[in-house]
Amino acid sequence: MKKLFISAAFAFALAGTTAYAAQPAGEKALNISFEQLLNQLKNSALNNIGQPKPASEIVGLQDLKNDDRFWVTVLAADKYARTALLELGLDIAEIKDKTVSGFVHKPELAALSEKGYVIQSKQSIYAYAKQYLKDFPDSDSAYHNYKETTELLQKLAAANKNIASLFSIGKTVEGRDIWCLRLNTSAKGEVPSSKPGALYIGNHHAREHLSNEVALLYAVYLLEHKNDADIKTYLSTLDIHIIPMLNPDGVEYDIAAGKYRWQRKNMRVNPDNSIGVDLNRNYDSLWCQSGASHYPAAETYCGPAAFSEPETLAIKNFVEARRNIKTLMSYHSYSGLVLYPWAGKDTPLENEKDRKVFEIMAQKMAAFTGYTPEQSSDLYVATGDTTDWAYVNGGIFAFTTELEGNSFYPGPEVIDNAVSNNIKAALYMLSVTDNPYKLLQ
Ligand SMILES: [Zn+2]
Repeated sequence: MKKLFISAAFAFALAGTTAYAAQPAGEKALNISFEQLLNQLKNSALNNIGQPKPASEIVGLQDLKNDDRFWVTVLAADKYARTALLELGLDIAEIKDKTVSGFVHKPELAALSEKGYVIQSKQSIYAYAKQYLKDFPDSDSAYHNYKETTELLQKLAAANKNIASLFSIGKTVEGRDIWCLRLNTSAKGEVPSSKPGALYIGNHHAREHLSNEVALLYAVYLLEHKNDADIKTYLSTLDIHIIPMLNPDGVEYDIAAGKYRWQRKNMRVNPDNSIGVDLNRNYDSLWCQSGASHYPAAETYCGPAAFSEPETLAIKNFVEARRNIKTLMSYHSYSGLVLYPWAGKDTPLENEKDRKVFEIMAQKMAAFTGYTPEQSSDLYVATGDTTDWAYVNGGIFAFTTELEGNSFYPGPEVIDNAVSNNIKAALYMLSVTDNPYKLLQ
């Protein structure tokens, strides 16, 4: 049903384009209404639910016949077993009481069996994909892709020149600009600001398209509600940065030719000709020690070195140049979780004050979304992620939100809640960004 979602998203993007083009030259107002946009997204998605197409009519599905990945369910009793599975290259997408499910390449699947892991079920990615026939975009279906995301950000910036500015924080492996929309009533572009800063990042992982939509619509919402009392205060007292699509190369690859490829990593060509580094294992925080793989073809490949990838290096340079950043949210999908450090250590945060702030913030944000707040490593230990690095190196209260849905390509029914509730949580984050420690008072 992702198809429906993205078609709708594109319809909205087109509507935005039309509305914007109709503005007289010099007109500052941007005729994109958040409500309209969300309704369009929902309604158009709901109106378009049709019968699944036969496999033969799905463009690109045949290609997956040559893909060596399997969707497997493996017995894993606890977080230690889950961490070990990540290290063996299983890309965990779902966690149940005693099992995990996710993608694994054929050679790593053999290794799992050899090591004695009990594989409850397995199916080829082709067989797995066939269950989601409705999710495949038609060859002619449009997508809220990198270009449309870029154009929308440009329009938002152009229509709100007194608040918003847009700049690239660096280029990807394939040379695409990584866009950052900045909202600040005094400083623009890359000019430093002493105002407390908040950073929102989407799409570390390519196939997690909902994470781009949440961040983008959040930007639209903030600008549309710029005169609401609370938001007006945030805009004038804070330095807000939104990077909705960190991994556009992977996003484009995932949707190229009107099909999905379940791409997680970036588009680095590794020495063994496999594709991609897992950007959320490539940060310099106990890099590649637990829950990550040194094997390039693995879905959890940490790269040849910390910050080997231009996408993560861009975040490093960006954050290190902005010591005013106090809070950070990295959007992923899917599990319905709000996670905080440690991700890479199997112990609670040593600093009790900080741990308390993390816990309170996670609980408050989870209350808006209905997600589960918890320390990241309670699920499994994974080193090299964004949040541990941001906390250690910048003292930043950094979170991972795993959005809702039961697939990387969720149906239209999750859009409304995912966007609306996560905006509330994101606004809550702004409300404490001036001084997160005030939560302890
Ligand atoms: Zn992710």
